[in-house]
Amino acid sequence: MSNSARLFHVQVAIPVPIRHAYDYIAPRRLEPGIRVVVPFGRQKLIGIIISNHRSSVDFKLKQIEQVLDQECAIGDNMLELLHWASGYYHHPIGKVLNAALPAKLRITKPLKNPVTETVYRCLPGLDHATTNKSLARAPRQRALFELVCSHGWISAKQIKSLSTNISGPIRGRDTHGLLTSLIDKGFIESRIHTPIAPSPEPKPFQDRLTEQQQLAINAVVSCFGKFKSFVLYGITGSGKTEVYLHITEICITQGRQALVLVPEIALTPQLVERFTERFGHGICVIHSSMTDQQRYQTWWKARAGNATVVLGTRSAIFTWMKNPGLIIVDEEHDISYKQQDGFRYHARDLAIKRASLEGVPIVLGSATPSMESINNAAAGRHQLLSLSHRIGAAKLPEVALVDSKIFPLHEGISSPLLEAIRHGLERQQQTILYINRRGFAPIAQCRVCAWQARCDRCDAFLTFHKTTNTFRCHHCGKIINAQSNCPQCTQTLFYAGIGTQRIEKTLIEQFPQARISRFDRDQINTQKKLVRTLKQINEGKVDIVIGTQLISKGHDFPGVTLVGVIDPDQGLYSVDFRAPEYLFQQLVQVAGRAGRSKTPSRVIIQTAHPENPYLHLIRDYNFAQFYHYCTEERELVKLPPFAYIALWRAESPNDKAGLQFLQFVSQTGRKILAGKRIKGIVMMDPISSPMEKLAGKFRAQLLIKADQRKSLHELLTHWLREIENSPNSRKVRWSIDIDPMEMF
Ligand code: ADP
Ligand code: ZN
Ligand code: ZN
Repeated sequence: MSNSARLFHVQVAIPVPIRHAYDYIAPRRLEPGIRVVVPFGRQKLIGIIISNHRSSVDFKLKQIEQVLDQECAIGDNMLELLHWASGYYHHPIGKVLNAALPAKLRITKPLKNPVTETVYRCLPGLDHATTNKSLARAPRQRALFELVCSHGWISAKQIKSLSTNISGPIRGRDTHGLLTSLIDKGFIESRIHTPIAPSPEPKPFQDRLTEQQQLAINAVVSCFGKFKSFVLYGITGSGKTEVYLHITEICITQGRQALVLVPEIALTPQLVERFTERFGHGICVIHSSMTDQQRYQTWWKARAGNATVVLGTRSAIFTWMKNPGLIIVDEEHDISYKQQDGFRYHARDLAIKRASLEGVPIVLGSATPSMESINNAAAGRHQLLSLSHRIGAAKLPEVALVDSKIFPLHEGISSPLLEAIRHGLERQQQTILYINRRGFAPIAQCRVCAWQARCDRCDAFLTFHKTTNTFRCHHCGKIINAQSNCPQCTQTLFYAGIGTQRIEKTLIEQFPQARISRFDRDQINTQKKLVRTLKQINEGKVDIVIGTQLISKGHDFPGVTLVGVIDPDQGLYSVDFRAPEYLFQQLVQVAGRAGRSKTPSRVIIQTAHPENPYLHLIRDYNFAQFYHYCTEERELVKLPPFAYIALWRAESPNDKAGLQFLQFVSQTGRKILAGKRIKGIVMMDPISSPMEKLAGKFRAQLLIKADQRKSLHELLTHWLREIENSPNSRKVRWSIDIDPMEMF
């Protein structure tokens, strides 16, 4: 019994698909955040302590096998954030923690800062003559002692490089043992040190801030040290990035770190470059092509406080920082912030939660803020900061809608657009043509027997790619050799619809002298090519750029005076209730690539629906009305941000299994609603997903809407428990998506 008083009962999160944490006995008090190895069934798994209490040790519990580290792998605030996320997204805590940790922490190796080194100096106040004398019989130690004394703090590595240059007794020797002896004798001392590479002088801020920029900066800076959320609503080219740089600078001079989230590093080399120029080696950029070791180093730098700025995509939100002072989410509306599988979090929403836990301000910047953020600002939950003018003489381009019923498209391009391109070419001005579809044509079909090239694994057409002469499925990645004749009746196939390659071909025929660059994932398939092509465009070595949404994000192209939108109509009539919002964001962003210099510029949108009210509002830059419109629509049919939604998804190679499972889910849910008297929930019927077959799996979905987040949460908690405990849940692959961003 005397032993039991010293035992502790701890809860450990383990990366298994079970929602709760597990109880174990620990030999001593272990701080939450510490990594341990625990027996689990017949396996040994790495887990994280999430709580401990001294009382009521249950002796049936198993003992922790090994305590991996003396210090935490996750800090208090981060642990609280991840706990909250696990509850909010109804995702198992062990899996959430696992997703948040770098791979190197998922193996049973103790934490060790790979960036640190041990440095030595001779003990202050030592009498050198006496010391030298006492080392008379140890010439190597003496030589080393003298070497150390002739410097301030010096590392073993420096000692090594110095001692290879001087001849003498320690040359080429293992200095480690000698140093240890000197420490033991009390002649030198050591400490752990983190080397920081000296940063080059930052480029001075050369521009005077506009009044609106200054106001925005002041507003944020006045909230340093406490939680406050801002929406920085600045039109394209209004100087948002400049605001980010200034507030980050002030944050750093106050001795704190900044976290900057961007949608995709690869697509925003200019923003990364501006931050790097400014903050030198203090900045850690987190990107997808990093090795595990590089991630581990970054993790340490952030946690030790050596990284002044951490800049990264979605998952960078999990970077534990020693002393965060500011969070910035650039292009906060971007859908890439939502993780679409596994732990389906939204990095912007986690960032807001994190800012509140850390007690720091957060800035959500965008030229086209999400409906959620606009609504939160309207409700007073965020403070709105506006940058409503472009910098200097730059003006927003004029937008025209071209009716493709009156001006038919020839191989994708109408005569007014063709004329505008010609006009630009004559004046050495650049054009961007935007079409969000790769390949030559999305449909290959036979006009005689109606055969169509379709993917046998998806409910989708195969896109014809002329450059490789292949049919490709853009959904599952399937590629087959293209044929030019109908496999059923040998008639020559006909290509319907337009992709980037087709526009490229049209332009080469029309303007054989023009320098044309295709900017899609087929052509721009490496970071190198991306950077090189952007450079060529900015140096004026390209006349016409044909781009997918790759071209629409963040780039600053001073020479572009014309943007042509080839085919926005697919976005006008979609099953996704967010389609108008996404179309709006795409068009405004791509239009924003033009008109960044003094030369007047224009945008031409080709459409078969020039009467569409959304297009009118985009043409007139009537963003307020656009948001108002969408707000009314969503309020009426109760959709986010006026309702809280969750989506069950199920898939199976069996064409009925997904729907059957969701029928079972639905019945279970209705029972819970009745039994627990949960109000304000609308449960839709299970349906086949809009694209039912994808990569050989049949998909179904079930949408839940709630007035209150609380009731949705309560329902889901009971619901998931019952579903998980049912054998039905093991017959299909299923998931629950909280705040889904895509309804396919
Ligand atoms: P955004 O991020 O809103 O698109 P940027 O910060 O990239 O805008 O600014 C657009 C351009 O204007 C950049 O070339 C930037 O260097 C320049 N700029 C920003 N603020 C100022 C200013 N106050 N005075 C002069 N130029 C500025
Ligand atoms: Zn045919
Ligand atoms: Zn497919």
